[in-house]
Amino acid sequence: MLENFEIDLKAIEDEGVFSYSLDDAFFKEIDAQDISGGQVEAQVIVKKMSASYELGLHVNGVITILCDRCLDDMIQPIEADTVLKVKFGPSYKDDGDDLIIVPEELGKVNVAWFLYEVVALSIPIQHVHEPGKCNEEMMKILKEHSGQFLEDENNVVNNDSNMTDPRWNDLKKLLNNN
Ligand SMILES: [Zn+2]
Repeated sequence: MLENFEIDLKAIEDEGVFSYSLDDAFFKEIDAQDISGGQVEAQVIVKKMSASYELGLHVNGVITILCDRCLDDMIQPIEADTVLKVKFGPSYKDDGDDLIIVPEELGKVNVAWFLYEVVALSIPIQHVHEPGKCNEEMMKILKEHSGQFLEDENNVVNNDSNMTDPRWNDLKKLLNNN
């Protein structure tokens, strides 16, 4: 399926426009860690320059990611653009910057991973459900757990000798280090 994202650069005389749909199967196939699904329209505009190709990538749609607050699935709208440059060279090279070298005899570039990266980088640092839309069951469990931590903390302050489960102390150490 990801081979459908291969663009034959040599076939482009002046400019080429390519459209793709990034769906649940796409994010599964590309092994996305943080995105479990989506419905994203993607467009790649390839312009032939004198010694390279300019690829304009545009993505627009919705993806499914985990809410920061309740850790349940949430729908995140995204829209983003980026420009990459592709040159022919002796062997394939992608340093993670904006220049990609592809072997001249191949003359093709697969844009699946680049489109995934544009989508992944467009996710806001903080993403949560709209107010009141979080999973209440999940929030309850999370609240109960943080409550237990607080209670334990109070026990230690009030009565040092009354140590309870030592596992809590290990967890507390972790929390205090943060
Ligand atoms: Zn939520």
